[in-house]
Amino acid sequence: MAATPASTDTSFDVLIIGSGPGGYVTAIRAAQLGFKTAIVEKSHLGGICLNWGCIPTKALLRSAEIFHYLQHAKDYGLTVEKLSFDPAAVVKRSRGVSKRLNDGVGFLMKKNKVSVIWGAATIDAPGKITVAKAKADAPKGALGPGQYQAKHIIIATGARPRVLPGIEPDGKQIWTYFEAMVPEKMPKSLLVVGSGAIGIEFASFYHTMGAEVTVVEILPQILPVEDAEIAAFARKQFERQGIKIMTGAKVTKLDKKPDGVTAAIDDGKGGTKTLTVDRVISAVGVTGNIENIGLEKLGVKTDRGTIVIDGMCRTNVPGIYAIGDVAGPPMLAHKAEHEGVICVEAIKGLHPHPMNKLMIPGCTYCTPQIASVGLTEKAAKDTGLDIRVGRFPFSANGKAIALGEDQGFVKVIFDKKTGQLLGAHMVGAEVTELIQGFVVAMNLETTEEELMHTIFPHPTLSEMMKEAVLDAYCRVLNA
Ligand SMILES: Cc1cc2nc3c(=O)[nH]c(=O)nc-3n(C[C@H](O)[C@H](O)[C@H](O)COP(=O)(O)OP(=O)(O)OC[C@H]3O[C@@H](n4cnc5c(N)ncnc54)[C@H](O)[C@@H]3O)c2cc1C
Repeated sequence: MAATPASTDTSFDVLIIGSGPGGYVTAIRAAQLGFKTAIVEKSHLGGICLNWGCIPTKALLRSAEIFHYLQHAKDYGLTVEKLSFDPAAVVKRSRGVSKRLNDGVGFLMKKNKVSVIWGAATIDAPGKITVAKAKADAPKGALGPGQYQAKHIIIATGARPRVLPGIEPDGKQIWTYFEAMVPEKMPKSLLVVGSGAIGIEFASFYHTMGAEVTVVEILPQILPVEDAEIAAFARKQFERQGIKIMTGAKVTKLDKKPDGVTAAIDDGKGGTKTLTVDRVISAVGVTGNIENIGLEKLGVKTDRGTIVIDGMCRTNVPGIYAIGDVAGPPMLAHKAEHEGVICVEAIKGLHPHPMNKLMIPGCTYCTPQIASVGLTEKAAKDTGLDIRVGRFPFSANGKAIALGEDQGFVKVIFDKKTGQLLGAHMVGAEVTELIQGFVVAMNLETTEEELMHTIFPHPTLSEMMKEAVLDAYCRVLNA
């Protein structure tokens, strides 16, 4: 249980509220910069990312991926007899992965001499917070409830599932990502409302584990933030696998019965369809945790559920900063981490570059995977730029064929005039591991010439990145 704070431990240079990837990375960087640092957490070290988001989903998806390969063992000349799975063991593995990383955050806090304060924080005034007792048990060595002071307070309280009228989650039949992460048994049929990364990853997981899955998306395209060509390709792949997808459609009502949930779906063409399923996952986005932390009293500006910040993560109230999901989209762990580093480096007076949102990669870990950075083709055209587009298919890459993963493609977009790489988009196996090559290239303001003169190892999937660039300049070699 938490110890009562010793009086010398109540005053800090930097105090961070929330220990997600934004908060804990900020704390480490602040400590590296010589600040006396504390982090307040009320629920679980590592936030949503490590406990209920990025990490446990990837662990579930890994089980699904291996299950899929075992089902297709014959394609690789292998025999598997009596293949089955134990849902409880799949979930147990995922929770174990989370727990290991959650413990890792505790270790990192100790290693960097960051004080962990256990409880729910409210900001009373700039420089002053009150921490109330939390329901969750405190990790060993954490400071307890009380009043604390800090010159700089950084809000990193994250986000929670958005709730839409008519499809309110009940935690039993209508799930958010919390319940979807720890199913007691696999549903036979599932409706996923929303086709962003979270919705599509769960659709992919449950479909692979045998559920009949329908995805309903209100916008005309699944994965709405992705390049239209990539999203259309992914859709075809999902549909070929057996996932049913409705776009331009809206779930208007969910009728709960003891043996299932009946959804009314406005098909966007004047008709209403009904669908009865075992479970529904509401994946209609997230909204920032801006309530009950004292923002109204302080006059901190918010906008549509998130805190308004400038390029150095400062709010309109001196001494109060915000980073990560609570500071607005894109709501991604690596964006949260980077914002935290910018924030404390600016406090230190190091003049970091403000966040360039175009340089934030996005990844969806479904099958096939999707990864992107920079402008989509449409966005590039909308800015009025004259562009060159290159593509290269997985079906022409030796490593992809050897892996048995020949579906997908890499797409690059260049400014015709300057040769600047404006965007890169990929769909196919392991593309989430490839995208960083283009992120580095864009960050270094690489041109097509430099990319074409870079040697890529053979045989690798990465060769498709170079070939796509060559294709944009009519010099493709292997297609
Ligand atoms: C299912 C799912 C899958 C995802 N997959 C990915 C992915 O693959 N890649 C990716 O980049 N992103 C992914 N995300 C998004 C990612 O989890 C978030 O962007 C990330 O966690 C944001 O980090 P954060 O530090 O801003 O906040 P969070 O991780 O939400 O952490 C905030 C912390 O603050 C604590 N807190 C809140 N209020 C208080 C208070 N008053 N006092 C004390 N503590 C408080 C909370 O308990 C929480 O621990 C996923 C999200 C979900 C839900």
